[in-house]
Amino acid sequence: MKIAVIGAGAMGSLFGGLLSENGNDITLVDVSKAHIEAINRDGLLLTTATGSRYIKVEAKYAKSVNEIPDLVIIFTKTIYSADAMESAKHFIGDNTYVMTLQNGLGNVELIEKYVPKERIIVGMTNFPSDLVGPGRVSSMGNGIVVAMSANGQDHPFLRTVEKEFNKAGLNCEISADVFVHIWEKVAFNAALNTLTAVTRLRIGDMSSTKEGHSLAFEIATEVISVANKSGIDAKLEAVIKNLEMAFAEHESHMPSMMQDMLAKRQTEVNFINGAVVKQAESVGMDVPVTRVMYSLIKLIQQRYFSQVLE
Ligand code: NAD
Repeated sequence: MKIAVIGAGAMGSLFGGLLSENGNDITLVDVSKAHIEAINRDGLLLTTATGSRYIKVEAKYAKSVNEIPDLVIIFTKTIYSADAMESAKHFIGDNTYVMTLQNGLGNVELIEKYVPKERIIVGMTNFPSDLVGPGRVSSMGNGIVVAMSANGQDHPFLRTVEKEFNKAGLNCEISADVFVHIWEKVAFNAALNTLTAVTRLRIGDMSSTKEGHSLAFEIATEVISVANKSGIDAKLEAVIKNLEMAFAEHESHMPSMMQDMLAKRQTEVNFINGAVVKQAESVGMDVPVTRVMYSLIKLIQQRYFSQVLE
């Protein structure tokens, strides 16, 4: 399959690298000069449980892509999705599908401005990955991909994607329950990402306080209530199980929103807590803890350079 991955950072390079190793024709599309140059010069250095290897794959700016792929996988941070889609308009053909496995809510609505819903594939992945440096990505740990056509219809191309992803070890399942998985991950992220980002504490230090522990559960409970009121059968028990697992096994991890805050970058909060607050309003609910965390992150993002840190 001919695939362009837009946003070839931690996740885009992991997926692009594994799909390339397993016989797909991959173009990595990014905006980072250092990353593109390193990949074209040395290959993509991918480290997974099976070891480190250089993968020969082409990396480009969007403007230099002139072939139409069968599939575009968008893996920018969600705040850059609109820019990325805008820059890709010339290589999204009438038969090109666009897939998003990005975190958060509202990704389909954003992509739908460029591609009809029947050619959007939406999903969730929990593979972990880190961009170690230009041209270098490390992913330690396993994960799954759950995906579906955004209009809910199964179709042969979806099954080809499933087959290619599984050949590449991406543990892909096509499931009508995709939004259950998406909302459960949103609940997890709305809790862990904002609490670690605001407190600047690693998962273990945050969750081992009585307050951190109970705030995480309160946020998860609010988000799942909104999902349920919106007709999505997401399960609080599943989110609590994942939170408990992260508290116990990922104590030293710094979630991406915390890393963004430490580097004074804009975060994906609008697509996570922000989207939950919006959906809560539309179904007549209030989510006070989720809303306060959203406001705090937005407040800090606007005042990064006035913060008193010592
Ligand atoms: P990342 O920051 O490592 O990579 C994003 C890449 O997009 C960067 O290389 C950046 O240069 C590039 N980019 C930015 N603007 C662009 C544009 N306009 N056009 C093309 N490229 C552009 O981010 P990531 O960690 O790979 O996360 C991507 C998405 O996947 C996010 O929604 C994230 O929440 C989600 N996610 C991440 C993980 C993880 O472990 N890293 C796991 C599951 C889901």
